Amino acid sequence: MIDVIDAWLRLAATRIHEGSAALTALDQAIGDGDHGTNMHRGFSAIVTSLEAGPPEGEGQLVVAGARLRTAGRTLISTVGGAAGPLYGTALMRAGGAVAAAPEGTPTADVVNAALEAAIGGISALGKSSTGEKTMLDALTPALEAGRQAAAAGSDAAAVTAAIAAAAEAGATATIPMLATKGRASYLGERSIGHQDPGATSSALLLRALADAVAGA
Ligand code: ADP
Ligand code: MG
Repeated sequence: MIDVIDAWLRLAATRIHEGSAALTALDQAIGDGDHGTNMHRGFSAIVTSLEAGPPEGEGQLVVAGARLRTAGRTLISTVGGAAGPLYGTALMRAGGAVAAAPEGTPTADVVNAALEAAIGGISALGKSSTGEKTMLDALTPALEAGRQAAAAGSDAAAVTAAIAAAAEAGATATIPMLATKGRASYLGERSIGHQDPGATSSALLLRALADAVAGA
């Protein structure tokens, strides 16, 4: 499991690096133009932290969960702005869910539990829910798709592919939304017609997850 998580974190960092200018451009339209650099700084620090080697612990899910918690702490300590604490909390909660899953839990179910915990962390810290033009508008439909795919008996590759596709559709669906949370909400009606940067980075992170799982 830790191999998949490390592969995901590295691929996510590469995709964030490649997408940094686009994320910043989206944030220039409805925020302060730092989302790409924020995410790039944070994921570069995560990749550096991976060089420390795998964490100690009994059981592959416990070790994998510890890896995600460390990644979350790294984001919180290196990224200012809203997204650092929100994604950092999400990764820490996801790590807690992975560590708490019984050994032998199918990977698809571990992923869904981690995503559910991540969403819970973001909505608690951000006092936010869906329909407010935030990262939750990509993550929440992603979880619904992941649950449906798992209930239909899909394997981890198919479940994460469904998660990624739903997150991408969710990010696109933020374009006509009115922002009511975060900096974009200061724009009021002028936030309409632009894709949310955080929803876009969430879709990018979940596409990297699907690709990492497919390549494992
Ligand atoms: P900042 O807004 O501080 O400049 P970033 O630009 O890095 O931080 O991140 C902005 C993104 O954070 C938004 O596009 C949105 O998706 C997300 N966001 C902001 N506030 C919230 C919130 N309260 N709940 C969920 N997501 C939020
Ligand atoms: Mg910003």
